[in-house]
Amino acid sequence: MADLHINNLRMQFSGVVALDNVSFSVSGGEIFSLIGSNGSGKSTLFNCINGFNRPQKGTIEFDNINLLSKQPHEIIQSGIARTFQNIQNIPFMTVLDNILLGAHHRIDSKATIKRWLSRSQREAEEAMGLEILDFLGIANYEQKYMTGQPYGIQKLTEIARALVGKPKLILMDEPAAGMNDQETQEIAKIISEIRDELGITVLVVEHDMSLVMSISDRVCALDSGKILAMGKPDDVKNHPDVIKAFLGDSDDA
Ligand code: ADP
Ligand code: MG
Repeated sequence: MADLHINNLRMQFSGVVALDNVSFSVSGGEIFSLIGSNGSGKSTLFNCINGFNRPQKGTIEFDNINLLSKQPHEIIQSGIARTFQNIQNIPFMTVLDNILLGAHHRIDSKATIKRWLSRSQREAEEAMGLEILDFLGIANYEQKYMTGQPYGIQKLTEIARALVGKPKLILMDEPAAGMNDQETQEIAKIISEIRDELGITVLVVEHDMSLVMSISDRVCALDSGKILAMGKPDDVKNHPDVIKAFLGDSDDA
């Protein structure tokens, strides 16, 4: 399975050092979580992995490919999908069509023209989209328009769009943000199933500590762009620096 290796990463925005000498590896098949207070660099790390941000120093390798030499669409093609902190669905399209947007990267530029002529290709994509919706338990939303759908459905649609491209690694930025307890438990189950049943490696940023602790093989705590602690969930949770920095008496990690 494909591994992710991040080495000595530094990302600076004018005066702000968002990531400072960050190194870690994620093995294929792991569920690996990033925690840290707002502004600690979690989303910036995702942006470096998927090519939106260009770090000044360091290396990122996935599946033996140097990601820093690749464009965002090439990084998707290498098998890395992402869901965003803010929902990115298109309101005037159906749930299924929103999902199929994620399938298009599998078609190369020459085939892009052909695909509009190929009914069988469209049908194959739709079947795949439906399979993913079924996997997520929202198959009955297939033909519904995105507009006005509950928040939970919007979030699941985002996840479905990432999965339909058959990634090897999925980056999930705050998948449970804004969800109630029941929806959060459902997301925890889905994340575990994404790894267990689809065999996809999961890198997740999440504030909900009970979710992080229940699903993760390993956890990495960031603070002001630096790694504070990394290891098994309980070890990180009980690490004195982590407690001091952001666990304290709040659950906003
Ligand atoms: P987190 O996701 O952990 O809340 P971010 O990675 O979004 O944190 O942000 C880390 C730091 O980098 C913050 O100080 C943020 O303001 C800064 N930052 C992130 N992206 C940019 C950008 N495009 N331009 C300038 N500063 C940025
Ligand atoms: Mg963020």
